[in-house]
Amino acid sequence: MKNEKAVVVFSGGQDSTTCLFWAIKEFGEVEAVTFDYNQRHRTEIHCAEEIASELGIKHHVLDMSLLNQLAPNALTRNDIDVEDGEGGELPSTFVPGRNLLFLSFAGVLASQVRAKHIVTGVCETDFSGYPDCRDVFIKSLNVTLNLSMDQNFVIHTPLMWLNKAQTWKMADDLDAFEFVRSRTLTCYNGIIADGCGVCPACKLRKKGLDKFLEGDVS
Ligand SMILES: [Zn+2]
Repeated sequence: MKNEKAVVVFSGGQDSTTCLFWAIKEFGEVEAVTFDYNQRHRTEIHCAEEIASELGIKHHVLDMSLLNQLAPNALTRNDIDVEDGEGGELPSTFVPGRNLLFLSFAGVLASQVRAKHIVTGVCETDFSGYPDCRDVFIKSLNVTLNLSMDQNFVIHTPLMWLNKAQTWKMADDLDAFEFVRSRTLTCYNGIIADGCGVCPACKLRKKGLDKFLEGDVS
């Protein structure tokens, strides 16, 4: 796939940054797309911009603030399981079908930039209630996108069956462990790298990291 192009759905978090490194290795040309839906911390967009810039990746930031119109109560909800399919990259809003929307827009962008491949860090292993992070959904959407635009897109989900420790190992295998550990944002409180250490996203990230560092990637 060295002479082919990919668009990576990219948030600046651990999972999608690992996917970005994976895509850089697999494809000849890579662009990244970040969805701006008024994330709880602007740091998230800046973090994504800086990573893309440092890796020399063309970066698209698409305005998806309309999502907030669909989730008016999200900012006051604390009952949402934050360990979502994007590996603790916490949405400040929970919108059913969010991933459906993001991947559909990624498909439109891929069509425009003539990329055959779309890469997303969704993961079924940590599936915690988001049906549009499941493998069956991704396969279904792949067919739908192809039919809708008369394309031959291939959606790649390199993390689909990995646990958090295995995702760290994958970053390490890509010689990106230190980069991912020190540059990505997972923390619910907007603190890059190891984060605040106490929010659910930090706890999840640390649990996987500790397992990996102990050599437990089963
Ligand atoms: Zn945190």
